[in-house]
Amino acid sequence: MPESSIGSTETKKFDALGLSPEMLASLAHAEYENPTPVQAGLIPRALAGADILGQARTGTGKTAAFAIPILELLKSHKRGGTPRALILTPTRELAVQVRDEIDKLAYGRRIASVTLHGGKPIRGQIDKLNRGIDIAVGTPGRLLDHLGRGSLDTRNLQTVVLDEADRMLDIGFRPDIEKILRRCPQPRQTMLLSATVPPPVQRLAYRYMREPVMLDFSSESKASDTIDQYYFTVDVERKFDLLVRLLEREQPEQAIVFCRTRRGTDRLCRKLSKKFPAMDCIHGDMQQRVRDRVMKQFRTKQVRILIATDVVGRGIDVSGISHIINFDIPQSSDDYVHRVGRAGRMGRQGVAYSFVTPEEGEELTRIEMLINKLLKRGEIEGFQTVAPVVAPTTDSGDRSQSDSEPPKPAPPGQRPRRRHRRGL
Ligand code: AMP
Repeated sequence: MPESSIGSTETKKFDALGLSPEMLASLAHAEYENPTPVQAGLIPRALAGADILGQARTGTGKTAAFAIPILELLKSHKRGGTPRALILTPTRELAVQVRDEIDKLAYGRRIASVTLHGGKPIRGQIDKLNRGIDIAVGTPGRLLDHLGRGSLDTRNLQTVVLDEADRMLDIGFRPDIEKILRRCPQPRQTMLLSATVPPPVQRLAYRYMREPVMLDFSSESKASDTIDQYYFTVDVERKFDLLVRLLEREQPEQAIVFCRTRRGTDRLCRKLSKKFPAMDCIHGDMQQRVRDRVMKQFRTKQVRILIATDVVGRGIDVSGISHIINFDIPQSSDDYVHRVGRAGRMGRQGVAYSFVTPEEGEELTRIEMLINKLLKRGEIEGFQTVAPVVAPTTDSGDRSQSDSEPPKPAPPGQRPRRRHRRGL
């Protein structure tokens, strides 16, 4: 990879970054007092026109880091023609969030932005594009659709951003991204933001960027460092009661409860809504209109407890999230980091609880190895998370082996899963 530099802790003020008076006024209006390290490192290089490969997680202020240079670039152009900047995001929710951040930072200026993602009628998006747009934010599938129809004109693009590039590649968007990038003009500025930079992300950068400056902010505000993390060993059939007790005890400002499946999310939402009023759920089977409404209500704190699947939970940036509860342990350890990263944004405190059934000990260990930290054992006074022993066992004395319900036999050809003892 060409020039590489480390963007560490550059402690500058916004007015030392070479920004225009209009931009400084918008930042003051947004009540951003000082740049985050990602912003201090990225903005001056982006203003100088460099291609940038930035390793940064959500919650570090990375959106404003690429949005501010884009808005500065737009200053000297006639507004509202064909888009000057295009931002690709992995999910619809993130597209909306990025657009909202851009609109916030463009306060008081006539900058037209649009989100182009699936789940919304394409007609309305085409109408907006025809009326003139400065910045388009979208998911790869829908962007390709617009390119195919000729409704998205890339000729005047000056900046292209790939946000959460690793996530986009994870969910299989690589061919779409490459098709889109091949349709974008040269010369242009390309910025790629990614929480991790595995070889497929590097390959993308080699192919489609000009000598990118590499900025590594991976150690900055790693959300999981500011979050207290606990686990409960709990029988499947006691998970719901545990959740109720935990929510009653913790009284979270706002919480996301993660489930593994869409049906499970719906089911839990139905049951829990009988006990807690300000709650709702979000998953990929819901209509976009409903998802947007739920997200809006969550942002404005009308919804305090949100039950979600990973697909939509990941990337949600709501500053009041104090609690993450993994009702189902995530399928991949990476998902754990992303889920937990929804709390404790911008260095605030947060707490995460993971429900682990006695059969899921290995998953817990994998997570602990990835984050290089042992989760603490959670307890609820007077509540037994695992069924009490009904008959003493003669062999191991391992209480987890002697629950009233014996572990189910493993399917043929599969090794039986070990029940873990921790927390019993
Ligand atoms: P992001 O990493 O882009 O998802 O940003 C996380 C949150 O930090 C968002 O809610 C931003 O509005 C907020 N934010 C970004 N930059 C700053 C800043 N310099 N000062 C205070 N808040 C910020």
